[in-house]
Amino acid sequence: MLMRRTDIDYLRLSVTDRCNLHCIYCNPLDQQGLTDRAAMLSTDEICRVVRLCVESGVARVRLTGGEPLVRSDIVALVRKLAGIKGITDLSLTTNGILLASMAQALKDAGLQRVNVSLDATEGQCFRRMTGSGEFARVLDGIQKALAVGLAPVRINCVVLRTANLSQVANLAEMSLHRPVSVRFIEYCPPGAKVDRKDWYVPNEEVRRLVESHLGPLSPAPATQAGGPALYFRARGALGTIGFISGRSSTFCRRCSRLRLTCDGRLRPCLHCAKQYGLGTLLRSGASDNALLILIGRALHEKSRYTKLDTTLECFSMQHVGG
Ligand code: SAM
Repeated sequence: MLMRRTDIDYLRLSVTDRCNLHCIYCNPLDQQGLTDRAAMLSTDEICRVVRLCVESGVARVRLTGGEPLVRSDIVALVRKLAGIKGITDLSLTTNGILLASMAQALKDAGLQRVNVSLDATEGQCFRRMTGSGEFARVLDGIQKALAVGLAPVRINCVVLRTANLSQVANLAEMSLHRPVSVRFIEYCPPGAKVDRKDWYVPNEEVRRLVESHLGPLSPAPATQAGGPALYFRARGALGTIGFISGRSSTFCRRCSRLRLTCDGRLRPCLHCAKQYGLGTLLRSGASDNALLILIGRALHEKSRYTKLDTTLECFSMQHVGG
């Protein structure tokens, strides 16, 4: 009989599939309609599911989307989640557009840290990647997050060969004078049908580029234990540089994440079509025990995965929650 893994302790919680940017790699076919608002879990429903996930072993929760900061009750949601006993790490991933104006309120509500996506340091390239010209707002958001102590601040950059390879050196340089971790993420095809092979850049190549600009990198401790990133530091730098290489060296056996979509589907893996309808079950009046059994099934299913399932035709990070 398959043993259930006991190290699955991380929940990626998509709080909305709405987003105020249109990153070219995130929702490639732009084909799925948005979730009906009535189907999206309320703050109380989310908290109930999270509490049960915590009973099932989850200790770390990251809010994502879509763009979590466009959810109108996001601060109240953070406050409620922060009150759940057993959560040791509460974080949020954002594109940073609304961060400057919300950072203090989020911190006060109990958020511990943020990851900010930033794929370019040059305005035109930022616009090509995201469809928006509001690059300066993201930088303001990063500054504000640092100022209010939403730390460690991590900057996530997805590198695409034909779009932003030219930005790698400047992005890496941000780690010299700021106490941030700049992390390069390998482009991960959201489904076999939409794999842009011309976009993919292995992180080995990104690292060579960084080193040709900043000099040799030395290993640095991880900012958070148990994640998939490997960290390094350029000489004399205040911050670090991380590499998340999900495509060139998959980390399925170490992956500790469950994902919950904004309408309450629990997914054991980003790349897997299998999902468990926690939201539907919850709204049918199910008991905590029935919900715990379903969460247990998802945990069992995840324990079987040892490599990426590449048979999915297409999914969108925006809908599943990146
Ligand atoms: N709106 C927020 C943001 O921009 O950070 C949160 C949602 S976004 C889907 C979360 C993360 O997924 C981002 O760091 C983004 O770069 C990453 N992501 C989205 N599509 C990806 C892809 N095809 N390959 C690798 N990372 C991807």
